[in-house]
Amino acid sequence: MTRQENLIKASHLIDMADIIREGNPTLREVAADVALPLHDDDIILGEKMLAFLRHSQDPVMAEKMGLRGGVGLAAPQLDVSKKIIACLVPKEFETEDEAEKANEAYSLATIMYNAKIVSHSVQDAALADGEGCLSVDREVQGYVVRHARVTVDYFDKNGDKQRLKLKGYDAMVVQHEIDHTNGVMFYDRIDEKNPFGVRDGMLIIE
Ligand SMILES: [Zn+2]
Repeated sequence: MTRQENLIKASHLIDMADIIREGNPTLREVAADVALPLHDDDIILGEKMLAFLRHSQDPVMAEKMGLRGGVGLAAPQLDVSKKIIACLVPKEFETEDEAEKANEAYSLATIMYNAKIVSHSVQDAALADGEGCLSVDREVQGYVVRHARVTVDYFDKNGDKQRLKLKGYDAMVVQHEIDHTNGVMFYDRIDEKNPFGVRDGMLIIE
């Protein structure tokens, strides 16, 4: 059985043991485009990846399964070198009341096939608190310099072509995951000599 066949078994839930860590060469490969029309195996893998993120954000499931919380996952992190990413970014609410009234709990909940950045802002941005990664078991401090705004083309799980404009935190998450499909790790984008340097006009996202 291939790695992907094992991951998509009906009885299997993706957990931390399925995630490869830095040093594994798969994380440095440029992943292959997913064949279209989408194969069932790739659709199911995408769904399993999104389910992992849901579980990782659910306190009870995360505890039971021993999961680190995550907002994004890319297939190469499962040692499957294909351009499949899943993102699940909870919406931030000011108050409980606001959260209850909202009809959408996530600002981004998506599975993307063959995602690529087709245009981006001149302005750069970085998360104030830096970034982490499920494939990196250590803290790496510094601003991860990315595009402040991006337009991303991808195929959704129905095989339909989509175009999405992103900014803020969502844009950072999607760029982190697309990077995984191109063999790039988040710390590659930290200025080694000046990790907290702010270049002209760079947006710091709190
Ligand atoms: Zn990562």
